[in-house]
Amino acid sequence: MTRRLLHALAALYALVAVGLAHCAVVSWQNGSWPHAAFFAGAAVLLAVAIVHHSYQRDELRFAHARLERDARLASFEDGVVAVALAAACCETWWTSCGFQHDSTCPHRHRSAA
Ligand SMILES: [Zn+2]
Repeated sequence: MTRRLLHALAALYALVAVGLAHCAVVSWQNGSWPHAAFFAGAAVLLAVAIVHHSYQRDELRFAHARLERDARLASFEDGVVAVALAAACCETWWTSCGFQHDSTCPHRHRSAA
């Protein structure tokens, strides 16, 4: 759902909750307390649903932002590792911090820089 549609839905919920509260007041004024209690309970339930809806929307937005940030960091770290591995010529060079080479390495005659 788009953000605009979610806001419209929340506004519609609020409008229905106000309507239910009005029905509760009118029922109470006409002496029908069971209907007043039912309408009041429905209005409160809908108000709680609006708050819950808003909370879940914020949680979803936070999770989405966190996933995007983690994905960006992972791709950056992968890039750093790829550059470091591309600069290594052989395993012995890698494990000796650039001081030695394998006997089969084409760079074995180079000195450590
Ligand atoms: Zn090497």
